[in-house]
Amino acid sequence: MMKVPFSYLERQFADPTEYFNDIRVLLEGMDLTLGTEVEKFENRFAEFIGLPHAVGVGSGTDALILPLRLLGIGNGDEVITAANTFIATAGAIVATGAVPVFVDSEDGFVIDPSKIEAAISPATKAIIPVHYTGNMADMPAIMEIADRHNLLVIEDACQAIGAQLTGTPVGSWGHCAAFSLHPLKNINVWGDGGLVLTSDADFAEELRLYRNHGLVGRDHVEMFGVNSRLDSLQAVVGNRLIPDAGSITERRIKVAERYDAAFAQLGPEITVPKRRDGVRHVFHLYIIRATKRDELHAYLVDQGIEAKVHYPIPIHMQQAARSLGYKAGSFPNTEFDAANSITLPAHQHLTDKEIEHTIRQVTKFYRG
Ligand SMILES: *Cc1c(COP(=O)(O)O)cnc(C)c1O
Repeated sequence: MMKVPFSYLERQFADPTEYFNDIRVLLEGMDLTLGTEVEKFENRFAEFIGLPHAVGVGSGTDALILPLRLLGIGNGDEVITAANTFIATAGAIVATGAVPVFVDSEDGFVIDPSKIEAAISPATKAIIPVHYTGNMADMPAIMEIADRHNLLVIEDACQAIGAQLTGTPVGSWGHCAAFSLHPLKNINVWGDGGLVLTSDADFAEELRLYRNHGLVGRDHVEMFGVNSRLDSLQAVVGNRLIPDAGSITERRIKVAERYDAAFAQLGPEITVPKRRDGVRHVFHLYIIRATKRDELHAYLVDQGIEAKVHYPIPIHMQQAARSLGYKAGSFPNTEFDAANSITLPAHQHLTDKEIEHTIRQVTKFYRG
């Protein structure tokens, strides 16, 4: 039976020799916190995305928490974000002392801008649009609302490395953007890591202080900070990988295009989400809507195709969110997608054969 794995780690790092050589060099220099590897990776990542400043931090979650705190968001504040996202977006807001206020998603699984204004209150300080699945949220519409209500915008770009909207890079719409290097993200390292990208040079400098105890040199503390540095060892891994960022992104897009074309033809059982004009969607997750989702999911897994569900329980229905006061029916689109969407393996290491096999098995499930 052909196996189609969801994770690409085993294939990606099948031969780690060059990585080990680089790590040996790092160890010879003993440059183990921050240092030249981190600086080099920050510069190359910023260049790949198309923004001037990148600050490496401990994780994608920290890449949301640190800017929120530096921008003065905390107790008594509300931050609007997407109901349909990975838990970390909401968790980061809660970690600052602020309250997450959710807004339902639209057809492409990103925040519906037409529903944002109804969620704004006198306590609202910021909006965190999530470029969920690698699709770009409608940033012009979101920035227009944010400007009119004087709200900060921080983009959650953890799933959207390399995405663009009408040629403008992800992360350049809001005040800053959070990226993740988690092993299952499009550009990944051997553990945790994240970056904040911004066009604001002063803000980038503040972040550099804040992530490293506010230290200037050894003896001077300019502000109280935290320890959330991008690990130097992970930066070594990132530096080995970043030259491939373009080809990884392009291959993911190609795989998704092949799936889209096949599933558009399959029939009413599968619905491909709308692909908005002008969006360079980078397909961190390839999600479609499917009738008899749970049966299809079980069938595919049985056939060795490692399909997933992102996510079966929406955040507002989680035990952790009970004090926020939402209920079933609060976000109909997010809830519908939790019950009816399926994620197929769609990464850069899949072969054409595996892709065609996956398409054939989905078709076979419905057509026999
Ligand atoms: C992965 C992810 C994060 C958090 O990233 P970590 O590096 O795992 O902390 C935040 N938001 C979204 C949408 C993510 O997918």
